[in-house]
Amino acid sequence: MQNALLPNGKIINAKEYDQLIHGEKLFCVSCKKPVIYVGSDQGNREPFFKTTGRGESIHKEDCKERRTLIIFDSLKTINKYTTDMSKMDSEDKYLIKLDFAPDNKEQIPHGSIDEIDESHPKKKFTYAYKYSKKRSTLPKRITSLSQIARLLKNKPEDLSRITFTQQGELFSFTDIVIDQDKATEIALGNKYTNIDFIIYGVVRSVIKTEKVMFVNLDTQDGLKPFDIFVFAGDFKWFTLTKEQLEGKPILARGKIKFNERYNKAEMRVRFNKQIYVFT
Ligand SMILES: [Zn+2]
Repeated sequence: MQNALLPNGKIINAKEYDQLIHGEKLFCVSCKKPVIYVGSDQGNREPFFKTTGRGESIHKEDCKERRTLIIFDSLKTINKYTTDMSKMDSEDKYLIKLDFAPDNKEQIPHGSIDEIDESHPKKKFTYAYKYSKKRSTLPKRITSLSQIARLLKNKPEDLSRITFTQQGELFSFTDIVIDQDKATEIALGNKYTNIDFIIYGVVRSVIKTEKVMFVNLDTQDGLKPFDIFVFAGDFKWFTLTKEQLEGKPILARGKIKFNERYNKAEMRVRFNKQIYVFT
């Protein structure tokens, strides 16, 4: 959290917090449970407040801060279940083709969709289509972020069995559906410039000027900054507003790259369907 409540009822931002001036007693702005301050780690990240998860320092069930994060709970625990795909029973694997519309409206192809060539070594996952009955509700092809949002309701252990295919390459669920930290890592690696990633996070602020709109993700809990931007030329396709986005958990889909000038990873978005807002 960026803000905390002081015993005198004032709200303090983590960047302004000084233990000597404000003292050590800090509370969640929404549910009033105790939180602690986490410093900037020599400027490597933004300072923030958090619950410790021990004693009284746990958000109440209905706390806004907790509700916001609960959507992404399955994603946070999925890594615990990520197992060696090659050792997994074929019955337990599940292959989903990611088939989003191109970012460029003018380039939407008519008809044919690229398939992985039969002779391609990565075609070995074909048998994954023989999925067991209990997962028959999972789609074989995903074309929208709302389908991804629906997938997140599955148990983490089921999500860990999913393999995505995109442009003939195979990816695990957590290779594609990522947080800001992983996005930064991938952007710096500069390897997957043609792959669509799905970033999950909470919108901290939206700044719209005549030329560009910035959707900044929250750096709560020490996450690295991440910007989504829309150029004015795309405002006719992208109509989501500050009110619709600020404070909301979202999924954003697109190519990611590192912006050297601002020293953070970013994603260009061109139309509404590239952002899914959890309500
Ligand atoms: Zn709370």
